[in-house]
Amino acid sequence: MPKKTRPEKNFESRAGTAAVWAGETEEGFKRATQTPVVHSVAYAYENLDEWTAVLAGEAEGHIYGRNSSPTVAVFEEKVRHLEAAESATSTATGMAAISNTFFALLSPGQRIVSQKDSYGGTSKLFLDFLPRFGVEVVMCDTTDFEEFEREIEKGCDLLYLETPTNPTLKVLDIARLSKAAKTKNAPVVVDNTMATPINQNPLTLGADLVIHSATKFLGGHSDAMGGIVCGRSDLVEQVFQFREINGASLGPMAAYLLIRGLKTLELRVQRQNASALALARFLQSQEGVDEVFYPGLETHPGHETAVSQMRGFGGVLSFSLQGGEQVVGAFLEKLRFAHLAAHLGGVETVVGPPKTTSHCETTAEERALLGIPENLVRYSVGIEDLEDLQEDLSAALDSL
Ligand SMILES: *Cc1c(COP(=O)(O)O)cnc(C)c1O
Repeated sequence: MPKKTRPEKNFESRAGTAAVWAGETEEGFKRATQTPVVHSVAYAYENLDEWTAVLAGEAEGHIYGRNSSPTVAVFEEKVRHLEAAESATSTATGMAAISNTFFALLSPGQRIVSQKDSYGGTSKLFLDFLPRFGVEVVMCDTTDFEEFEREIEKGCDLLYLETPTNPTLKVLDIARLSKAAKTKNAPVVVDNTMATPINQNPLTLGADLVIHSATKFLGGHSDAMGGIVCGRSDLVEQVFQFREINGASLGPMAAYLLIRGLKTLELRVQRQNASALALARFLQSQEGVDEVFYPGLETHPGHETAVSQMRGFGGVLSFSLQGGEQVVGAFLEKLRFAHLAAHLGGVETVVGPPKTTSHCETTAEERALLGIPENLVRYSVGIEDLEDLQEDLSAALDSL
């Protein structure tokens, strides 16, 4: 490596700069300014001593693509900075990050305390898979923090939170619930996908690990899947060791696309925050709309908690339509600037009802129990001009 003469970069507290510069390797490749996509599966060494030192973690380097690789390491480093974490490890998808965390940290006979409205895939782990391995899962009423505290008191080996929730944007008090879990020495894991590190840093509120589906806002362009787990080094190390054997590793091409997307994360999220709040207020004033769910609204039950732990309220909102379930289809068809798809967090606006998106695996009765109305529309705000989105919503409502 050539001698370094440039000053060290310092961007610890500024997300816009960190999103651009963090993790970018100093050495480059033939003076390229951009991180190369290293497709190599294996890494070769001069001699056995060098190879052994890398294997033992005594020298920097990579051995085999399932364990670690250079492009993937840059992605991990960027998100690690954005979450102000000690360590980070990546996975092929968000669900791989979540399931690897559970299977790495838990053993039969242990108990997770969590919430009723988690992401659909996470709920599936809670209801079908973890119980098969002897792990007890308690799913508390998402807005009843006292119930969480009572359940934690009865026994807790891991507290798992997701806030804001999908699709009704309920807000959990991370600091209060983390404090309760600490009395039991239980690690606190937070799915921060909906908020993004721009709006919320759970580790600074008492969490031990933070998880993202990088597929959503982090990548932001709906063209790559990935997941990441950041936080306390001892816990991240356990997740990494399970993941390298389980094999759900992030690939170099996806990592490259996620790095490229991450560079504009701060810009995108600021725009999405502003547009989502404006559209939520607009929808509240519309005749055909029953109720609007967005933590940035003063009328939202979780608004105060959101203000205390978030810097912005995110790019996803939902609203119920008057006239019931039948009007949802007619409304969706009328939108010009929105994909009807099961996704969120991209540069394009994406819209859909819970029964074909976040909660496609649940029955109508289960959705009712979760307080998810069948006439609900989830709206993930893209980076289009606000005026176009507002006109679009207005025209679709008028057509009903
Ligand atoms: C999409 C999503 C996941 C799962 O991520 P994948 O990348 O699709 O596996 C987990 N949590 C939340 C909140 C999500 O929105």
